[in-house]
Amino acid sequence: MEAALVTQTDKLIDKFGRQVTYVRLSVTDRCDFRCVYCMSEEMTFLPREEVLTLEEISLLSQAFVELGVNKIRITGGEPLVRNGVVGLLDNIAKLDGLDELVITTNGSQLVKLAQPLKDAGVRRVNISLDSLDPEKFKKVTRVGELSTVLAGIQAAKKAGFEKIKLNAVILKNRNDDEINRLVQYAMDEGLDISFIEEMPLGAISEHSRAEAYYSSDQIKQDIEQQFELLASSKTTGGPARYYEVAGYDNLVGFISPHSHNFCDTCNRVRVTASGLLLLCLGQEHSMDLKRVLRQGDASLYSVKQALIESMEIKPKGHDFKLSEQPVIFRHMSVTGG
Ligand code: SAM
Ligand code: SF4
Repeated sequence: MEAALVTQTDKLIDKFGRQVTYVRLSVTDRCDFRCVYCMSEEMTFLPREEVLTLEEISLLSQAFVELGVNKIRITGGEPLVRNGVVGLLDNIAKLDGLDELVITTNGSQLVKLAQPLKDAGVRRVNISLDSLDPEKFKKVTRVGELSTVLAGIQAAKKAGFEKIKLNAVILKNRNDDEINRLVQYAMDEGLDISFIEEMPLGAISEHSRAEAYYSSDQIKQDIEQQFELLASSKTTGGPARYYEVAGYDNLVGFISPHSHNFCDTCNRVRVTASGLLLLCLGQEHSMDLKRVLRQGDASLYSVKQALIESMEIKPKGHDFKLSEQPVIFRHMSVTGG
């Protein structure tokens, strides 16, 4: 491929005319939880030298923002177990042109870190919460303590983020009976909540994905037994549909990679903790940015050039199947959810 020349006005536009304005950056593949849909019980994590350094992540973020990216989500693994993450967020938040710096966390470190994150410039936080029952919560996360996460949610509220959204992955016969309790909790606490269908990312040992599948349509039906949902025009260009809840100020969202096609408006790419640029969550198309970042004469220019070139291989869409074998062999903790 001929090297692209980078100009001041370059944007990340793919072959289908879609502009990439949103990047999800995984800063670690490690985690202090072992959620059954995300990891197997025994995980082998990347050797430390394989993980991008904080300086490399900062440079990469700058390259993205100079190419028109206006939203960065920091994720993982659990991003808040990475040493130095607050300083990294502080650097990224200062990038000229970035409108939104947001983070996805399991909430385990928020009692300690909510205020530092807010002070660093993080605007919004997504917190994963799959159950309000301590035993079910422990079963889903294998090791997580519900009370720690609930205290973390309170710490995040106190820190005053613009928005806090809960994310819940619903599995049949595991936590599908928690749906309305979670909605009621979110509404009472003044939080948005999104329900996520399980995606076939990475081999897991604990359950059959096809058997555990609980569709967004089913979740919505369950919620409508207790709440009135009114379609909302809010969109993120991603796989989420949002509804207002009558009588409350917060939204319920449904993230449905299986049942609703969203690829036409895709505005995002992901970067794994090891610096692999993933151009589609459900396909293997990728570019090794770590190689670019670690070549002798690596510069902002060469990283931008690589990003522009990567647009040639962003695929049109994905094709998730609920087969027993994962279609994508990376775990979500590697991909960065
Ligand atoms: N550790 C953080 C957390 O749990 O929020 C951030 C990383 S986690 C991979 C991001 C999101 O992906 C979480 O909301 C999690 O529930 C979701 N997730 C993980 N594995 C998934 C899967 N196989 N299908 C759907 N969502 C998944
Ligand atoms: Fe960790 Fe988040 Fe994966 Fe759970 S979903 S194991 S908290 S990375």
